[in-house]
Amino acid sequence: MSEKTILVWFRNDLRIHDNELLTEAIRKADKVLPVFCFDPFYFKTTQYGTLKTGNFRARFLIESVSNLRDNLRCLGGELIVRTGDPEQIIPQLAEQYQVAEVYHHREVAFEETSISARVEAALWKIKLNLKHFIGHTFYHKEDLPFPIKDIPDVFTVFRKKVERDSTIRPCFETPASIPVPAIGDAGEMPTLEQLGLTEPIDDTRSVMHFIGGESQALLRMQHYFWESDRLKTYKITRNELLGADYSSKFSPWLSVGCLSTRQVYWEVKRYEQERGANDSTYWLIFELLWRDYFRFMFKKYGNQFFKPGGFKGHAPDVAPNQDELFEKWKNGLTGVPFIDANMRELNATGFMSNRGRQNVASFLVHDLKVNWTRGAAYFEEKLLDYSPASNWGNWAYVAGVGNDPRENRYFNVIKQATLYDPKGDYIKTWLPQLQNIPAKQVQTPFFLNDAELSMYHVTLGVDYPALIIPPQWKNPLDKNVTIFG
Ligand SMILES: Cc1cc2nc3c(=O)[nH]c(=O)nc-3n(C[C@H](O)[C@H](O)[C@H](O)COP(=O)(O)OP(=O)(O)OC[C@H]3O[C@@H](n4cnc5c(N)ncnc54)[C@H](O)[C@@H]3O)c2cc1C
Repeated sequence: MSEKTILVWFRNDLRIHDNELLTEAIRKADKVLPVFCFDPFYFKTTQYGTLKTGNFRARFLIESVSNLRDNLRCLGGELIVRTGDPEQIIPQLAEQYQVAEVYHHREVAFEETSISARVEAALWKIKLNLKHFIGHTFYHKEDLPFPIKDIPDVFTVFRKKVERDSTIRPCFETPASIPVPAIGDAGEMPTLEQLGLTEPIDDTRSVMHFIGGESQALLRMQHYFWESDRLKTYKITRNELLGADYSSKFSPWLSVGCLSTRQVYWEVKRYEQERGANDSTYWLIFELLWRDYFRFMFKKYGNQFFKPGGFKGHAPDVAPNQDELFEKWKNGLTGVPFIDANMRELNATGFMSNRGRQNVASFLVHDLKVNWTRGAAYFEEKLLDYSPASNWGNWAYVAGVGNDPRENRYFNVIKQATLYDPKGDYIKTWLPQLQNIPAKQVQTPFFLNDAELSMYHVTLGVDYPALIIPPQWKNPLDKNVTIFG
C-alpha cells in the first residue's frame, strides 16, 4: 500500500506547540508536508491607498516563518516556502507530492475565508478535501454555551456565560518528530525587497524589539510570567505607556499564531498554582477573552464590521476637510500631544499601547470626524499585531457602529493624557521638542500664551503643530474648570 501524505497549510498558526494540525497529520499520515505561502494579496495597496502589510509586520512575518522552518527542521521536518497565490500553489504541491488531504486552521474574516474557499474549490477539482481546524481562540465554537448565531452581542453577557458554562481544552503536545517526504525544492525565504518593501529602521524608543517566531514568543512568556514576575501586577500596569513590561506584548505573536492563546491560558493557570491567583492573573485572561469575542462576532456577522455604517446602517458624520485632517492624524501633526505622540510611536515602531489606540481612534472619529474605516485601514498597514477581527472589531466599537453600539465611546483625550501620562514622560519621549514645558501643561500647549511658549522654546506651527481643530476641551489649569467631572 502506498504511503499517505497530508499537506499542512500554515497560515496564522506559525508554531509547533499546541498545533492540532501537526499533531493530527502526524497521527493520521505516514508523511506530513508543511507549506507556507507568502501570498502577494497581503502585500498589495488597499482601496484606502494604504498597504495591507507594512514593513515592520512583514519583517516580523518573515522572521516567524523562518523560525517555524528552523523548528520543523529540528524535528527532522521541513517547511516548503513559496511566494504566490495559495489557490495555485497548494493544489500544485498536493499533486506533486500525491497528498491525500490538506489541513488548515479556519479563519474568520472575509478576505481570509475567501482565500480558503478558493483553495478548497481548487482542491475539489483534483478530488481533495480541505479539512478545517479551530485553533485561534481559547474556546472551540462547539464548547460555547450557545450556537454562533446566538452569541450575545454584549461582551459582558458573552463573558459571564462563557466563564460559567465553558471550559478550555488542554493543549496539544509538541510533536517529537515530523516525518516528511523527500523534498527537492523547499524554497527560499523572500526578502522584504522581493515583497515590495524596505527594511524598517528600528527606533531605540520602541517598547521592545519584537522578533518574530514561536521561540521568541515562548521566551517572552517565560520572561513576563516567570522571570520579571510582571503578571502579578498586570491589572495595575496595563494602561501604562512606556516600557516592555507594563503589559504582556504577546499580541504580535498571537496574531500570527507563534503563540497559542490556549498555551497562555494554561501557563497562567500554572502560575496561579505556583505563585498565586489574583486580579491580575484573571485580568490577562479577561483581556484575551476580548480577542475571542471579536473573532466570534466576525463569525456571526461576517462583513458588517468593514462597513462605515457598521451595524447601525449609517456612518458617523464626517468633516468636509476630512482628507486633510486624516493626513495630519496619520503623521502625528494634530497639535494634541497625546495623540501625536501615540501616532509617532506607531509610525516609528509598529506598536501602540491599548490606551493609545483607544484615544487616537476616538479622536479621529469623534473629534476630527474622519471616516473611521480610514483609521482602521491605516492601523492594518502599520500594526505589528494586526489581526482583522481585533482591529476592525475594536475600531467599529470605538466608532459606536459595532455590534454593541450602546454606549458613547468618546474619550476626552486631554483628561486621558492627564490621567495616564501625568508627568508627560510619554509625550516628551515622542515629542522631545516639548521637553521644557512643565508636566501640567505639556498635554495642552495650545493653552500657553506667547510668553510661556517663548520661555519653553516652543513656537507653535514651527517646532510643534498648532491645533488643527478648535479646542474642544477646557483648560485643565483654569481654576474654574474640572475636566474630570
Ligand atoms: C482601535 C484598536 C485597534 C486594535 N487593533 C488590534 C489588532 O489589530 N490586533 C490586536 O491583537 N489587538 C488590537 N487591539 C487590542 C489591543 O490594543 C492590543 O491587543 C494590545 O494593546 C496589545 O498589547 P499587549 O499584547 O501588551 O496587550 P495585553 O494588555 O497584555 O493583553 C493581552 C492580550 O489580550 C488581547 N487583547 C487585549 N485587549 C484587547 C482588545 N481590546 N481586543 C482584542 N484583544 C485584546 C491581545 O491578544 C493581547 O495580546 C486594538 C485596540 C484598539 C482600541
